[in-house]
Amino acid sequence: MTTSGPDETLPVELRTEALEQLLTERGLIDPKAMNKLITYFETSVGPLNGAKVVAKAWTDPDYRRRLLEDGTAAIKELGFTGPQADHIVVVENTPTTHNVVVCTLCSCYPWPVLGLPPSWYKDPAYRSRVVKEPRTVLSAMGLELDDDVQITVRDSTSVVRWLVLPERPAGTEHLSEEELVPLVTRDAMVGVAKVEAS
Ligand code: FE
Repeated sequence: MTTSGPDETLPVELRTEALEQLLTERGLIDPKAMNKLITYFETSVGPLNGAKVVAKAWTDPDYRRRLLEDGTAAIKELGFTGPQADHIVVVENTPTTHNVVVCTLCSCYPWPVLGLPPSWYKDPAYRSRVVKEPRTVLSAMGLELDDDVQITVRDSTSVVRWLVLPERPAGTEHLSEEELVPLVTRDAMVGVAKVEAS
């Protein structure tokens, strides 16, 4: 018996290339425009945008409230918008609750604040395992959480893109918003790491 669905065992690069070729042949996309878009997201947009959002939320309680109420709007306030910017929902990590983001179906990701997703995020192993055994997966990625910390796995879709607002680390009370930005990592905003004080 044959199946007509996508063969997920083929490397994603190969499948993407085949798709791009087909769309180009049919005149549906312009490869030059594609390259421009990819370069833009690789160089101009990236986790630095998300780090600015997080640092602002840590230092401005009103902004933090707006961010948790309507992520898309609060992120747009800082000028970050574009494809996959709609419906960004921000969830806060605390000492007792931990959120971790996945897209079990494919690789939905909040591009305007995090750039393009890392390869492990697109890996079928991460996508399936983190839902079933988040504590084990996080531990394997170097994040050990106490047993009393409640973990919530947030599954991204085309209508909800999750962004984690990590905990502000202890010992950073004296730092300004600008000084906090470089501490915030992409992994912390996906929820597979914590922000370290230095
Ligand atoms: Fe997806």
